[in-house]
Amino acid sequence: MSVSHYDLCVVGGGINGAGIARDAAGRGLSVILVEGDDLASGTSSASTKLIHGGLRYLEHMNFRLVRESLRERETLLRTAPHLVRGMDFVLPMGGSGHPAWKVKLGLKLYSWFAGKTRLPRFRSVQNLAGEAFGLPLRPEYKRGFVYSDGWGDDTRLVILNAVDAAENGADIRTRTICTGLKAESGNWVVSLHDRNSQNNYSIHASAVINATGPWARRFLEGTGLDENDPDLPKVRLVQGSHIILPRQHKGEESYILPQPDGRVVFVIPYERDFTLVGTTEVDFAGDPKDAMASEDEMAYLCAAYNKTFKAPVLPEDAIFTFSGVRALVDQDKKSVSAISRDCRIYHHKRLSKPLISVFGGKLTTYRAQAERVVDLAVDLIKVVADPWTADQPLTGGEFDGGDLGAFISRQKARYPWLPEVLLKRYAQAYGARMDMVLDGVDSLSGLGIYCGQHVYEAELRYLVTHEWAQTEDDVLWRRSKLGLQVTDETAENIASTLSSIVA
Ligand SMILES: Cc1cc2nc3c(=O)[nH]c(=O)nc-3n(C[C@H](O)[C@H](O)[C@H](O)COP(=O)(O)OP(=O)(O)OC[C@H]3O[C@@H](n4cnc5c(N)ncnc54)[C@H](O)[C@@H]3O)c2cc1C
Repeated sequence: MSVSHYDLCVVGGGINGAGIARDAAGRGLSVILVEGDDLASGTSSASTKLIHGGLRYLEHMNFRLVRESLRERETLLRTAPHLVRGMDFVLPMGGSGHPAWKVKLGLKLYSWFAGKTRLPRFRSVQNLAGEAFGLPLRPEYKRGFVYSDGWGDDTRLVILNAVDAAENGADIRTRTICTGLKAESGNWVVSLHDRNSQNNYSIHASAVINATGPWARRFLEGTGLDENDPDLPKVRLVQGSHIILPRQHKGEESYILPQPDGRVVFVIPYERDFTLVGTTEVDFAGDPKDAMASEDEMAYLCAAYNKTFKAPVLPEDAIFTFSGVRALVDQDKKSVSAISRDCRIYHHKRLSKPLISVFGGKLTTYRAQAERVVDLAVDLIKVVADPWTADQPLTGGEFDGGDLGAFISRQKARYPWLPEVLLKRYAQAYGARMDMVLDGVDSLSGLGIYCGQHVYEAELRYLVTHEWAQTEDDVLWRRSKLGLQVTDETAENIASTLSSIVA
């Protein structure tokens, strides 16, 4: 294989890598993104999926991050309306939490930082028992607040950022591990290993971005680069786990439950039939791929839930769990909750060629983080290219002024034969790109092989052709969350249809 040259090589296909690749490719840089596994297979598929300022970060006086996150929440509600939406959160008062005046002050500050927003303002609720969303709560929770924040599809955000990057010319290579970096004749020589073909090869790049999330320090150690840099940020790996229960409440509201240890646990209606409860924070050592909810974490989440809700849940009620690992930039704080979720963008100045590492950060702020990384990269490789992502819809989001309801109604008229449940799922996952899934199809039978539970060959074909799906898990857990719903039979049908498409 001949050695190709790129302006930028992005290592890691989580939200940071995909966001950086999109931004850089849209500025006209030649970009390659390499992901050792599937896109979004790391932390970016294990988040709580909140697109939020982080009410509790106010307590730690992390005002800059809250303000930036709230600004980004607004940007994503506007530019990714298919994937990010508003959600109401009930904050019940009672038990041993903060006094109501303090919470109200916090919510006022939060609203003030949010500035002009499309989400409703918070309100206090004097009698929770008089509201449908108050009925599942234990009687000691008499009053509370309801406020709005953002919620998004984490894995689809990653995938559509990668798609947008590719449509702007980026070369996206999944199942491709970066195994080494060497500075040579004015460039980085980047060694790659293709896990499908088992081939080793190299490419050249003017600059490299280490966007390997919780693997960022491992990556630097593995490549032998800059290990002894005294200024290299110290990173603390922290695992967070979630449990998924059968749907516990009818309403669409989520709940935020402050805990005596200073954390908060969220209870969120999830994928129509489920309730998501998370998260924990536990120091982690080892390979982040091996993160798994422990019995203690599951017990902690159930205890937090049971303290607030009338109908108790047990760890064995969980039908699924997932865990992710954050890389927090260690500020020598003892409590993990007190460490900032801020992102540290680090230029390895001691190296002869530009290498930038991304440590920490939030899903919410990925776009702004990516913009800062690319600003720095273009500066280092001496090209002029202006930022653009704050105003441009993420691919699929260019519909009906960002009004998903209006878009769905319009699509219903366009595809009257498509079952409503499928139409809504397509609209929320693909936005305007659903027309690509349905290209040339005018009846249900035109969607090809039926795998069961509203999964058809046409969608799988689209995912293989345009979204790098290769395996059943790529489809069920990262291109969608269908893994929670499908039967073994549907999963087998998806696997066999996929293999006939990939072949
Ligand atoms: C439990 C939990 C809950 C969270 N909830 C929220 C939330 O609600 N809202 C919010 O804003 N943020 C949240 N976050 C934070 C957010 O999820 C992370 O900031 C974000 O996902 C990190 O993305 P990343 O791209 O840096 O890392 P990752 O998603 O982990 O991506 C890194 C990628 O690099 C790849 N890689 C590693 N080494 C190599 C190599 N040598 N070659 C090629 N590829 C490689 C990995 O396979 C991986 O896919 C949460 C985090 C956790 C842990």
